[in-house]
Amino acid sequence: MNKSDFYPTLPLRDIVVFPRMIVPLFVGRDKSIKALNEVMKTNKKIVLITQKNAEKDDPTEKDLYSFGCESKVLQLLKLPDGTVKVLVEGIERVKIIECKNDKEYLSSSTEIVKDKIDSPQDEILALSTALIRKLEKVINVNKKISLDLTTSIKEQSNPAIIADHIAGQLNISIFEKQKLLETINLKMRLEKLMEHINNEMNVISVEKRIRGRVKNQMEKTQREYYLNEQMKAIQRELGEIEDGRDETAQLHKSIIKAKMTKEATKKCLAELKKLKSMSAMSAEATVVRNYLDWMIELPWSNKEKQVEKISIDEAKKILDEDHYGLEKVKERILEYLAVQKRVGKIKGAILCLVGPPGVGKTSLGKSIARATGRKFVRMSLGGIRDEAEIRGHRRTYIGSLPGKIIQQMKKAGSKNPLFLLDEIDKVGNDYRGDPSSALLEALDPEQNSAFNDHYLEVDYDLSDVMFVTTANTLNILPPLLDRLEVIRIPGYTEDEKINIANNYLIPKQIKDNGLNKEEFNLNESVLKDIIQSYTKEAGVRNLEREISKVARKTVKSILTNKIKKLEVDNKNLPDYLGVKKFKYNEMESDHKVGVATGLAWTEFGGEILKIESAIMPGKGKMQITGKLGDVMQESVKAAKSYVRSKSLEFGIIPPVFEKKDFHVHVPEGATPKDGPSAGIAMVTSIVSSITNIPVNKNVAMTGEVTLRGHVLPIGGLKEKLLAAHRARIPKILIPEDNKKDLTEIPKNILDNLEVVTVKTVDEVLKIALTKELKPIEWIEVENIAKPKSSEKPVAGSTH
Ligand code: ADP
Repeated sequence: MNKSDFYPTLPLRDIVVFPRMIVPLFVGRDKSIKALNEVMKTNKKIVLITQKNAEKDDPTEKDLYSFGCESKVLQLLKLPDGTVKVLVEGIERVKIIECKNDKEYLSSSTEIVKDKIDSPQDEILALSTALIRKLEKVINVNKKISLDLTTSIKEQSNPAIIADHIAGQLNISIFEKQKLLETINLKMRLEKLMEHINNEMNVISVEKRIRGRVKNQMEKTQREYYLNEQMKAIQRELGEIEDGRDETAQLHKSIIKAKMTKEATKKCLAELKKLKSMSAMSAEATVVRNYLDWMIELPWSNKEKQVEKISIDEAKKILDEDHYGLEKVKERILEYLAVQKRVGKIKGAILCLVGPPGVGKTSLGKSIARATGRKFVRMSLGGIRDEAEIRGHRRTYIGSLPGKIIQQMKKAGSKNPLFLLDEIDKVGNDYRGDPSSALLEALDPEQNSAFNDHYLEVDYDLSDVMFVTTANTLNILPPLLDRLEVIRIPGYTEDEKINIANNYLIPKQIKDNGLNKEEFNLNESVLKDIIQSYTKEAGVRNLEREISKVARKTVKSILTNKIKKLEVDNKNLPDYLGVKKFKYNEMESDHKVGVATGLAWTEFGGEILKIESAIMPGKGKMQITGKLGDVMQESVKAAKSYVRSKSLEFGIIPPVFEKKDFHVHVPEGATPKDGPSAGIAMVTSIVSSITNIPVNKNVAMTGEVTLRGHVLPIGGLKEKLLAAHRARIPKILIPEDNKKDLTEIPKNILDNLEVVTVKTVDEVLKIALTKELKPIEWIEVENIAKPKSSEKPVAGSTH
C-alpha cells in the first residue's frame, strides 16, 4: 500500500469534488480555516472529503466518507467577516487510510486510487461518446445545464476525465455523487452516468407533457368563452335576447335595487365586471355569481315597519297571551322594550334567558318578536367551535358560504328581526378559532354596525337586530356574560304547570290536531297524574309531549271507533300513556339510618339527592361511589374529617374511625353531580350511620360545610326548593346566608314548605336526626368510654 504523509483535510458539507474539477469553496469553520492556513504555509496538498451528514459541525473520521479528492489550493481570499473563500482544483481520487483529529485541524493520510479498466479501450471510448451525445440532447431540452459544459467535454478524449467532469456537474444527490466518486471501475462509472442522464431525460419529458396538457385546457376554456360570446352576439342579432334580459344586465339592476351600502355596491359592481370577462360556464363564474346572489338577497335596507308602532300595552297583551305567569320576566322584558322605544335604538345589555329546558325560553323569544312586530330567526350555538361557522369562509375555499349570522339575516329578509341565539353557554373554543370573539362583535352595539363576515368581505350592519340569548346554565364565557343581562326562569310549580296545560298546552294541541274543545279536555286530577307520574322536569316540554300523545290517540279513536270523545281518567291513563314512569312521592317511607336527603342543582333544574352511607368492619378506609365530581368527593372527605373531629360531642368513640370502613354512595348518579352544596347532608348521613340514629325522612337539606362546622351559602335555591316541593318534602334546611334569596321564591311554594335556616352543623343534626346526640368522655390511655351524663354511649361503640 502507498500510504502518504498526513495532509491537512477539509470536510465538505454539500459538495463532492472530483479530480480536475475547479470549484470555489466558502470556508467558515475554525478548524478548516486553520487547515487552509497550514496548506498556504507549506504549499502542500489538501484533502477534500464530503461529510455523511451535512449538519455535523465538528466531524471526525466516522462522519466522513472514505473516498475523497486530493487537491491543491489555487487562490485564497480572506473575507471581512472572518470567513475564507478558496479556489481549489481536484487532482487525484484518494482513499482515506487514516484520519487524525489531534492537531488544530483534521489531517489524513491517503492512498491514490487509479481507475480500473477491465474492458477493451474502444468499448469504453464508444460508451463515452454515447454519453456526450445523450447529454447534448438533455441540454437541448433543459436549459438549466450550461452549454460550455459540452464544449469543454467535447475537447476531451480521455473517457476518465469526461466521466468525472460530467459527474461533477450532474443534478443528483450528494449521496449519488459520492457513489460515482467511489466507483473505480471506469466502465461501470460511465454506465451509471448514462443511467442518471436517462432518468433526467424521463423527468424532463413528463414535465413537458404536463405543461402541454395545462396549455390545452386553457386554450379550451378560452375557445368556449369566445364561442359563447359569439353565440350571444348571434342571438342578439336574431332578437332572441334583449339587452334587458341579458344575465349581467339583470344582475346590475338587482344590485342597484338591493339598496346596499356604498361599499357593498362598489364591490358588487367590481365583481360583476369580472364576471363579464369570464366564460359563463367556468367554475370561477359560478363562484362570482353565487357571491352576487348572496349580496343581492341580503336585507340591506328593508325594515319591518311595525316595530316602531307597537305600544307597550299591546306588547304586554301579546306576552300574556303567549305565556302563563313569568311576571317578573315579562316585566323586565317590557322595561327593556320601553327603553328601546324611547331611545329609538337598541342599546345596552342583551337579554339572556337562563333556565332548565322546557321552561319557555325559546317560545318567549318568539313571543317578544311578535310583541315587537319583528321577524323571528333562531340559531343554536350548541357545539359551535369554529369561528368560520359564525363569520363564514373566505371565498377562496371551494363551496364557501357566509357564516350563520348572515345566513339567518337572509332568511329573516328584514334588517331588524329578533335574533335568538340559543345555548350560548355551549359555545366552545379550540384550535379552530374562538367563535366567542365573532359573537362578541355581533352582540356589541358599539361594533355591530360594521359586522365583518369573511365571505361577504364588506361590512354588514347588525345594529337594528334585537338579539336575545338563552342558556341552561350561567357557565358562559366571561367576556360574553359581561354583555348579557341575565333573567332567570327557574321552573314551574305543579299548580303553574296545570294552569299552563289548561290555558296554553291543551288549546295548542286542540288546534294542532284539528280537534275542538268538546272533543278533547283533561280534568285537573288527570293532569296532576300526568305531571307526577309521567314527567319529572322543571319545565313543561314533556308534559306537552304527553298531552299531545293523548290528543293523537283521541283523534284516532274518533275516526276509527266513531266515538264522540275519548274519556280519560286516572284509571285508564296508563292505557294511553303506558306504565307510569316515575314514583310520585320521592320521600322515604320510614326514617332510615344513614340515608339523608340532599338537594342538588343540575342543568335540568333542581333535583332530590339521596345520600347513603354505611359502615362496616375494616381498617378505616373510605369509599365513595355514584359518579361524583371532584368537588363532591372532597366534600365527602371534609364531612368525614369534621365528624371525626367532633366525635366525642356526637357520642362516637374515636377508634370507630380506625376499625371500620366507610362507604358513601349517591344513587342515581348517572348524571354526574358536582358542587359542595351536599356537605351538610353528607355529615348527617355519616353521623347517622355511626350512631345508628335514623334520619328524619321529612327533612331535606342543602348547604356547604366547613371543617369548623359552619354552614355556608349555596346557589340555585329557587330550583332546589322547587324540587323539594315537587317531591313533597315538608321541611327544608337552608344556610342562614341564603335567607335573603327567599324573597324571590313564589309565595305558594313557601306556604307549602317549612324552610328552616341554619348556621351550624349542630343545628342541622338537631333537626335532621330523630334522636338527640349524647356527648361522651373518652380517656385515651385506658381506652374506656364514659358517658358524660348518666346515659350509656350510643350504638356504634366497638369493643
Ligand atoms: P326552552 O326553550 O326553555 O327549552 P321552549 O320554549 O321550547 O323551552 O318551551 C317548551 C314548550 O313549553 C313550548 O311549547 C312553550 O310554549 C311551553 N311553555 C313553557 N312555558 C310556558 C308558559 N309559561 N306558558 C305557556 N307555555 C309555556
